[in-house]
Amino acid sequence: MKNVVLLGSTGSIGASTIKVAEDLPDRIRLVGLAAGSNAELLAKQTLKHRPEAISIGDPARAVEIQASLGATTRVYAGNDGLLKLATLPAADIVLIAIVGTAGLQPALAAIRAGKDIAVASKEILVMAGETVMNEARKYGVRVLAVDSEHSAIFQCLDGKPASSVRKLWLTASGGPFRQTPKEDFPNITVERALKHPSWVMGRKITIDSATLFNKGLEMIEARWLFDVEIGRVQVVIHPQSVVHSMVEFVDGSIIAQLSTPDMCLPIQYALMYPERVRSDRVQTDFAKLGSLTFEEPDLDRFPSLNLARRAGEVGGTMPAVLNAANEAAVKAFCNGTIGFELISRTVAGVMERHQPVAHPSLDQILSADAWARAAAMR
Ligand code: NDP
Repeated sequence: MKNVVLLGSTGSIGASTIKVAEDLPDRIRLVGLAAGSNAELLAKQTLKHRPEAISIGDPARAVEIQASLGATTRVYAGNDGLLKLATLPAADIVLIAIVGTAGLQPALAAIRAGKDIAVASKEILVMAGETVMNEARKYGVRVLAVDSEHSAIFQCLDGKPASSVRKLWLTASGGPFRQTPKEDFPNITVERALKHPSWVMGRKITIDSATLFNKGLEMIEARWLFDVEIGRVQVVIHPQSVVHSMVEFVDGSIIAQLSTPDMCLPIQYALMYPERVRSDRVQTDFAKLGSLTFEEPDLDRFPSLNLARRAGEVGGTMPAVLNAANEAAVKAFCNGTIGFELISRTVAGVMERHQPVAHPSLDQILSADAWARAAAMR
């Protein structure tokens, strides 16, 4: 039995994690759940799964939920609440699926409390990959990937060292604008950007998939998770999203991981690792799929990939700056303040102005993050 704390239980990854826990009631116990603002859904999940502790963003809502639940579940609030859950003594593993940067401190707290972490929130490794991986080594805990691409690479590597890798190949669906001409980019609306061809996900990551910033963030995430410099991380467009990613080894052999797209699969793999546990949820029919195709990403229409590569090469605080500027620009696009194309132009402009700090402390990362948000808004 694995005791799991789930941060971000009311989101898209949260919902899939709960499905996995319900598929495997004899293997997974949800001991902690945390949400941002959706108190109603969190209360419903709590009544069903009876975790030891939960947390909600707003302290006033925490008091209300505590009154309705009684003493069986402890209710915490805000960032302190996330830290309490991340270090819950009963937890074996903490799955972090909070959108944005709020998952970073809980991730570090969980590691320092000796818990394995399963990371969906790619921002954590983009901002502070060096720190997180160093701390995980120091405390002897695992950092397991939930992102389908990184789960695929982890499965393909199967314990082989970075020295056996020629390239890591991240596949990308290409998003809703894969075939949209550049002239049409100024007409892209939020509604169009939110229609992803293969995955149903939260709002931020869906917009990131439309700009390909999602893939850029994943390049940096892969660099840290697998200790491979960014020059060996490649992206290929694969619209069917069946090959989740591949490893090309030094002898030229390539191993890929395939399945019809369903986030329950990488979530279950991370929670049950190192075991493979039976599940009938994901079925793949090759004859029905027909063909799998691959194409080069268009770096002119999608400058995000080169920006991410540059941030990964420069390192230090630059990836945190890319991530924060992108978050601010996506927010502005969703509010209707800026057009689609201005997302990558904003990030490029902020990166140009940044003086990166090498091997930054957590405080330096957080202050670069705050600076980049303000610079992006300006
Ligand atoms: P959603 O927007 O669907 O969900 C986000 C979750 O985070 C919600 O439960 C939300 O709570 C919670 N949350 C937000 N801010 C806080 C906070 N300050 N404190 C506590 N909880 C908070 O996002 P996704 O599930 O799509 O994505 C989550 C992360 O996983 C992202 O980093 C994304 O990049 C990554 N990811 C997602 C994939 C997917 O298929 N969706 C695939 C791979 C990675 P509430 O709704 O109650 O406010």
